[in-house]
Amino acid sequence: MIEKFGYGLKIPILKLLENKNADLKKIADFIYDNIFYGYTLKQWGLKPDELDFSVTSRVPVFISHDNRYFQDNYQGIPLKGYTELFNNILNNKNIDISLDTDYKSNSSSIKFNKLIYTGPIDEFFDYNYGKLPYRSLQFDFKTIKKEWFQEVAQVNYPNAKEYTRITEFKHFLNHNSDVTTVAYEYPQAYIPGKNEPYYPIQNELNNELYNKYKIEIDKLKNTYFVGRLAEYKYYNMDQIVGVALMKFEKDIAK
Ligand SMILES: Cc1cc2nc3c(=O)[nH]c(=O)nc-3n(C[C@H](O)[C@H](O)[C@H](O)COP(=O)(O)OP(=O)(O)OC[C@H]3O[C@@H](n4cnc5c(N)ncnc54)[C@H](O)[C@@H]3O)c2cc1C
Repeated sequence: MIEKFGYGLKIPILKLLENKNADLKKIADFIYDNIFYGYTLKQWGLKPDELDFSVTSRVPVFISHDNRYFQDNYQGIPLKGYTELFNNILNNKNIDISLDTDYKSNSSSIKFNKLIYTGPIDEFFDYNYGKLPYRSLQFDFKTIKKEWFQEVAQVNYPNAKEYTRITEFKHFLNHNSDVTTVAYEYPQAYIPGKNEPYYPIQNELNNELYNKYKIEIDKLKNTYFVGRLAEYKYYNMDQIVGVALMKFEKDIAK
């Protein structure tokens, strides 16, 4: 692998599978069969080749001894946690919050000069061109009376079990406590009104449908669509924060 691709390279599994070298193909088949195939089927309800390449290539095969999930130079979480971070942002006098307030059910009474919409795009346009599928999750939290449950923060289950992963949050901030809380994640289809939409399911068919809504977006003035649900695009946290700041400076604040 190192000879062929070089140390430190990341290769999407579907690219690795195309390899002609018999030994490399054997490794690629093994990784695909034992990790990618089952995990993708569980997470997305689709086979890897039924998803957009941008989604399947998000978790590439990494030829390295570096076992971290991300390799960014600077990685961290807020010193006092995300709750404190958001509390501080939301304390700004220019921000009012209405919780449990669905945009669609209240749109006629909302007055605005500029609107930034972060909900599902198809819902905004009353499903005019049809429903866009989103993937949802059910979280099952368990508090266990022992100091640690697993050795690391996250353990993935590509094939066995119905859940995709177990996360033990204590590892992130090295909390000291006699008990520990873990979350089991069960992927499921998004059903409006029943659960939360978390992930757009990007593939050719769905992207085509999204593009029809995109044409409607471009006709609107002073309304901006930002985020995973509104742009039907897979963003990580750092990416969406970057996009939000960039859109604000470029389009919204001007
Ligand atoms: C289980 C899970 C784990 C993740 N782990 C990581 C990770 O480790 N690292 C990482 O970088 N990223 C991670 N992410 C991704 C991260 O959560 C997203 O990148 C980020 O939340 C995207 O921000 P957003 O603004 O696009 O969407 P969201 O955070 O989903 O914000 C959309 C907002 O719109 C609101 N909304 C939706 N519909 C309506 C409506 N009709 N009316 C009113 N309000 C509405 C929602 O309530 C929500 O507050 C994870 C995501 C999930 C689901």
